[in-house]
Amino acid sequence: MAKQYDVVVIGSGPAGYVAAIRCAQLGLSTACIEKWLNKEAKTVFGGTCLNVGCIPSKALLDSSHKYVEAQQHMAVHGIKIDKVAMDVPTMIARKDKVVNQLTVGVKGLFTANQVDGIAGQGKLIAKDKVLVTAHDGSQEEITAKYVILASGSVPVDIPPTPIDQETVVDSTGALEFQEVPKRLGVIGAGVIGLELGSVWARLGAEVTVLEALGDFLPAVDRQIAKEALKILSRQGLHIKLGARVTGSKLSKAAKKSITVEYTDAEGDQKVQFDKLIVAVGRRPYTEALLDDSVGIEKDERGFIRVNDQCATNIPNVYAVGDVVRGPMLAHKGMEEGVMVAERLADKKTQVNYDLVPSVIYTHPEIAWVGKNEEELQAAGTEYNVGTFPFAASGRALAANDAEGMVKLIADAKTDRILGCHIIGASAADLLQEMVIAMEFSASAEDIGLTMFSHPALSEALHEAALAANGHAIHIGNRKRRK
Ligand code: FAD
Ligand code: AMP
Repeated sequence: MAKQYDVVVIGSGPAGYVAAIRCAQLGLSTACIEKWLNKEAKTVFGGTCLNVGCIPSKALLDSSHKYVEAQQHMAVHGIKIDKVAMDVPTMIARKDKVVNQLTVGVKGLFTANQVDGIAGQGKLIAKDKVLVTAHDGSQEEITAKYVILASGSVPVDIPPTPIDQETVVDSTGALEFQEVPKRLGVIGAGVIGLELGSVWARLGAEVTVLEALGDFLPAVDRQIAKEALKILSRQGLHIKLGARVTGSKLSKAAKKSITVEYTDAEGDQKVQFDKLIVAVGRRPYTEALLDDSVGIEKDERGFIRVNDQCATNIPNVYAVGDVVRGPMLAHKGMEEGVMVAERLADKKTQVNYDLVPSVIYTHPEIAWVGKNEEELQAAGTEYNVGTFPFAASGRALAANDAEGMVKLIADAKTDRILGCHIIGASAADLLQEMVIAMEFSASAEDIGLTMFSHPALSEALHEAALAANGHAIHIGNRKRRK
């Protein structure tokens, strides 16, 4: 007799495991199927985010940031360090430990919430039936009232630079280098390319980022992107814009290197690297997930087609996370997972897709939510802008970490906050204050009338909000109305 559940979730990344836990909390019998095997060939839950994404990349960013701090930023405090050295294998092992702790944690959450975690490959073979193929090849069918597809995404590879995970790696391979490459190439100046490029640049690699587009970070507010380019270039990232990679040649020598061919405004170019990270984006992953007979629709880019509530075209089958439209971000998938679970329990939960925060975890961090100036201009919306540089923040100066700025944009007529754009230390956490404010439809005046602790980095938000209405206290006011 086939196992029966109210809900079967395929995939245990942040979208899938959150959906499964919330379903179980709401009293639905739930299973979550996961095929991921870790380096020790053990099933682990947590998907890309925990295993090879958000968490390991932040672990390496934090380690490499501490290295730079120790090497460059201690003397000013009067702290003398004779010699700073990096032990890369220890850094990688610490990263693995953090990953392990969190994936074991998800398993624990499954147990605590009575979610059945099932190891193996799940395939939707009918709208209420999933075939599970275990790693030993054995198969079983599970029936479910509802199925949630959460199979995530994988790195895109491009024909000019085939991945061998040795000299030419994707984001997963870039988390595993056992020594600092002397010359590191990165293809793609997106979030992942900049984060991973930063890790290895901080540790001493000579990093060149080749980006096909002429604009740097086109999704980011222009003023913030310009500041980011300046700061990251100063940190030693050689970012070449308008450089499209067209081919590559691996050397045959014992110590492998790769020659990358690219085209820029000056014509055909060549550059040699010891390692190359290909970070040109991610694509939805649906391999062996769907039997054609079920008839789940995908869009032209391979994403499973869903409506605003993450329902597919087939009744009782839902899809969440990177495998559906929208930004490929862990928190976006988690909120979708909660939304679907709660809707199955007859709640009217809805994700607010207008307020998905984005963060690039370089140092300083780059974080934004809502509309930027360019988008508002294109829409013909009148707005006020308030900015505040961290160079004028007492807390930032005390911490000797005062690069960057906060920019707040408010509707000129209603004063409602339309967007917040930050480059600075702890930008991700600061931004969240504005995400909450915007979720409650706050105006710039509301923020201006709110008391902020002194001294704190968040005072920059307060001042930017005051500046939007022309009465910042700790900076000259140049009210800008567009
Ligand atoms: P995934 O996390 O990809 O999980 C899908 C899971 O489904 C996988 O475990 C897979 O094995 C499993 N699966 C697939 N098909 C099947 C099947 N048929 N049967 C069983 N199991 C299956 N996002 C952020 O928000 N913040 C960050 O800082 C951030 N940093 C990142 C850094 C890097 C280097 C990378 C690569 C990504 C980063 N992301 C970040 C993106 C983030 O990891 C993804 O948006 C997120 O993991 C997507 O979650 P998901 O649950 O949709 O899919
Ligand atoms: P993201 O999708 O944010 O991770 O960014 C990936 C980046 O890689 C995009 O900015 C693309 O323009 C860039 N890219 C894609 N293909 C190439 C290529 N052949 N050469 C250089 N850059 C590329």
